Amino acid sequence: MPIRTLSVVIILGAVTSLVAQTPVPSAAPKPIPSFDLNAIDKSIDPCVDFYKHACGNWMKNNPVPPDKARWGRFDELYDNNVYILRELLVQAQAPGQHSATEKLVGDFYTSCMDEATLESKGTAPLKPQLAQVDNIKTRADLIKQVAYMHRNGMPALFAFYSQPDMHDSLQTIAYLDQGGLTLPDRDYYIKDDAKSVETRQKYREHVQKMFELAGDKPDVVAAEATTVLAIEANLAQASMDRTERRDPKNRDHKMTLTEIAAAAPNFDLASYLASNGSPKFSNLNVGNPQFFKQVNEHLNTVTLADWKTYLRWKTINANAQVLTKAFFDEDFAFNGKYLYGQQQPEPRWKRCVKATDQNLGMALGQLYVDKTFGPEGKERTLKMVKAIEKAMQQDISELTWMSDTTKKQAYEKLNAIVNNIGYPDEWRDYSSVTITTDDYAGNVESASAFEVKRQYNKIDKPTDRKDWTMTPPTVNAYYRPPMNDINFPAGILQPPFYATSMDDAVNYGAIGVVIGHELTHGFDDQGRKFDAQGNFRDWWTPEDGKQFEERAGCIDKEYSNFVAVKDAQGEVKLKGKLTLGENTADNGGLKLAYMALSEILKNASAQSVDGYTPQQRFFLAYGQVWCQNVTDQEARKRAVTDPHSPGQWRVNGAVQNSATFQQVFGCKQGQPMVSANACRVW
Ligand SMILES: [Zn+2]
Repeated sequence: MPIRTLSVVIILGAVTSLVAQTPVPSAAPKPIPSFDLNAIDKSIDPCVDFYKHACGNWMKNNPVPPDKARWGRFDELYDNNVYILRELLVQAQAPGQHSATEKLVGDFYTSCMDEATLESKGTAPLKPQLAQVDNIKTRADLIKQVAYMHRNGMPALFAFYSQPDMHDSLQTIAYLDQGGLTLPDRDYYIKDDAKSVETRQKYREHVQKMFELAGDKPDVVAAEATTVLAIEANLAQASMDRTERRDPKNRDHKMTLTEIAAAAPNFDLASYLASNGSPKFSNLNVGNPQFFKQVNEHLNTVTLADWKTYLRWKTINANAQVLTKAFFDEDFAFNGKYLYGQQQPEPRWKRCVKATDQNLGMALGQLYVDKTFGPEGKERTLKMVKAIEKAMQQDISELTWMSDTTKKQAYEKLNAIVNNIGYPDEWRDYSSVTITTDDYAGNVESASAFEVKRQYNKIDKPTDRKDWTMTPPTVNAYYRPPMNDINFPAGILQPPFYATSMDDAVNYGAIGVVIGHELTHGFDDQGRKFDAQGNFRDWWTPEDGKQFEERAGCIDKEYSNFVAVKDAQGEVKLKGKLTLGENTADNGGLKLAYMALSEILKNASAQSVDGYTPQQRFFLAYGQVWCQNVTDQEARKRAVTDPHSPGQWRVNGAVQNSATFQQVFGCKQGQPMVSANACRVW
């Protein structure tokens, strides 16, 4: 879904004294070891707490830095990438001949680093947008303003985007959906525990301060903040929760424009679509029709003046990162510090590198790939993917609970999975984006509008399966059910995930499990509902479907007992259903990667390295990928919003279910890492 990236990123903060001309700070941190003996805490028995055994010393030696909310080996690696990206950007800024791509990203970075110009402009970049909101005279104007905001990447009221048709994945169609919230989840508006009440009070104060910074009189801002909270609470009440949204059938509502317009006439969708810059279309899916019906009432009962206050807020909030230091500081105080527990903002240069990655990521990514990732990187990874796909084929064939009828369909799906490695085949054409060195707000707006337009232009066209949703330097990977593809950006294909210098045991424990994890997503609670072509279709016999649900239910129950955070404000447990797909993928990935490794080790002599057998090193490499520390605040937010379990449970949850792990480390019945009711789906 297109978003004005800068308004929603978690890494927020105040301006530091660095400017573009300042000498570059010290070189990048040291490379990250793939398998780190120094991370291990030998005083902890691996059968009692494997995560602490694998990561204990790392955790002691790597507290969360003051400018981060979470610090793990993924974050460490991305931080290294940020140094590489900065070097590329500084080179692109230097005088001399540059390619169009270098000029584009170099100029964007310059505009972000030029704090003096941002300060001198004050609220000027915001004024025309706020004036537009002030000029709203009718409800028709209101909807047109929402269209304007969406066109420029500013979220408000609801969402409109393009996605493959759930029933014909070869075609991409238009989607209308719930939206318009500012806090991380609907729960934040609805729950009545002490922490939620406190958060809403802090949010109210934050909205007030932001209105004041935008020039509103101190005597009206309290009432304005109350209005914003009331409207967003209404939107939250009408929204479906994250867990419900995991089930594709809850989002599957093909409707004609006439049908949804009749069900929610106050949205004036015809007028909205005439002004949001999207092409005319024939197919539409409404993610949550109930949302539109419910909010339809509010569009009438809430006064026009109050709706204008809400749009005013959404405009200010969307621009908080591109204005003066005062806006940055207030934004950081609430989001960075209060919500996520960051003690201080990251240095400006890091925020500007990340902003370039977020806004022009496929241009910056091209430079990154040229520097760091040769064609041999694709080859090596593809070889591992093939080995793990073969393991999955074998795994499916050995399942005792699945009928041959369903197995046949599962093989078909497995064989149809497309592997995308490193970076896209074709680089994105940014030539229509206007970037200048002295207009940061304008640059972000131009890049956001470009991305929105690019997404809208996919509507009613054959699905573009070659388009990537993550930029090349990203340290992550993903599976897309409608595309039935697995994707590994170049950023993750390096230590601690992969190193040519390491043996297979370590590489399979790290990137191998990641590959197995993504493959398993095609067959988790959500992925299994899509077929080989990426269509939402039940290809399971009813009995096999029941067997799957039973096994997934075991994982749900197991992880629901894990504590995500325990602090002065109480204990929060993981949501077993929200994290079900990721936990299933972790368990499956670990098994598949181990099977692939065993195939390789069959013909090799099992040599111990550093006192660990290859089999033990496989599990340690897996554990160490997830070494992390996190602030209590961030852990709380993730327990509500993140479908991934925290590192501790990604590791211990999976090994508790693994008889192989228990055998490799000689664990005994009754020890904590030996589950009495081991769960297994794949
Ligand atoms: Zn995943």
